[in-house]
Amino acid sequence: PEAKPYIRFDKITKRFGDFIAIQDLSLDVYEREFFSLLGPSGCGKTTLLRMLAGFEEPTSGEIYLDGQPLKGVPPYKRPVNMMFQSYALFPHMSVEANVAFGLRQEGMARADIKERVEQMLKLVKLERFAKRKPHQLSGGQRQRVALARSVAKRPKLLLLDEPLGALDKKLREETQFELMDLQQELGLTFIIVTHDQDEAMTMSDRIAVMDAGVVSQIGTPAEVYEAPNSRYVADFIGSVNLFEGTVAGTANGTVRLAGPDGFDIEVADDRDFATGSQVALAIRPEKITLSRHRPESGNAASGEAWEIAYMGDVTNYIVKLDGGKMVRASTLNRQRSVDNPIGYDEQIWISFAPDGGSLLDE
Ligand code: ADP
Ligand code: MG
Repeated sequence: PEAKPYIRFDKITKRFGDFIAIQDLSLDVYEREFFSLLGPSGCGKTTLLRMLAGFEEPTSGEIYLDGQPLKGVPPYKRPVNMMFQSYALFPHMSVEANVAFGLRQEGMARADIKERVEQMLKLVKLERFAKRKPHQLSGGQRQRVALARSVAKRPKLLLLDEPLGALDKKLREETQFELMDLQQELGLTFIIVTHDQDEAMTMSDRIAVMDAGVVSQIGTPAEVYEAPNSRYVADFIGSVNLFEGTVAGTANGTVRLAGPDGFDIEVADDRDFATGSQVALAIRPEKITLSRHRPESGNAASGEAWEIAYMGDVTNYIVKLDGGKMVRASTLNRQRSVDNPIGYDEQIWISFAPDGGSLLDE
């Protein structure tokens, strides 16, 4: 049975003057979900969060929270807390006073505030920094104070707008796991905005991939990565090869493509594509096998290594096919030392299985 959505964006359109920032967008988020809005700058992510928090009203459509329409409900009456892109701590207040601020405003009893603040600082591992002022903290620590402050009031729903944007890579990765722990421990619903696909993949139960005011695809990280529904999503998430081709025929769950890249391709797909239609096969670099001899089965083409980047865990290749197309391939380095790696200046083959990629007609 379908779970009842906790948040429902129902046919939301938002205009600023004659500019359409969000167009007829529908989206459900479930309770206790870690949900990401992922897309390039300007696609409307912040606008969606601001409408949910009540800082903007939709031009048309309705947003529901727990089945109740939110139209006309002022921000402070919504059980929503939003941590902004440019979070601001009060500079003259200590860490604990910053975290306590919202609780004081709510009129919580002094002893309860003390306990809650201690709990929050423990959660973000800042117990030892309670008495410090923001300027005595690193960027990452300040970010964690802002997080602690956002969750202190135990909002059922926390909206986070690019919360880790100010952190360097290592700290960002650590904080990603802390955020996931926090969400699990408190049983909250998180909607997080990011333009960083690795971040969305790491943390989310589901991701909505956005493109200029619309949702292109909603799915688990594995779904949007392994079964993208469009060239846009395939290209936005991770690294991908697109083989553009013409459908030459379909039979028994196999689609044959006549490729402009000098070789024909068979794809396992039981949809019925019209012969002659233009489609693309999206295939990830790790689904491409490299070999020195033509493989006995699968789709194959020959070429030579154009770029080789040894990354430790994997080696990334760009192979130039004889027909000129550049193909990305990524091989996992299982053995401790690679004795006879494929190098430059030798003829090699790329190959991939019929079920290695996704066929896209959008
Ligand atoms: P994102 O968060 O995905 O980067 P935003 O939601 O901030 O994108 O903005 C989406 C689009 O709407 C952008 O083109 C932005 O310039 C425009 N926009 C946002 N807020 C306003 C506003 N108050 N007035 C006019 N245009 C706006
Ligand atoms: Mg934004």
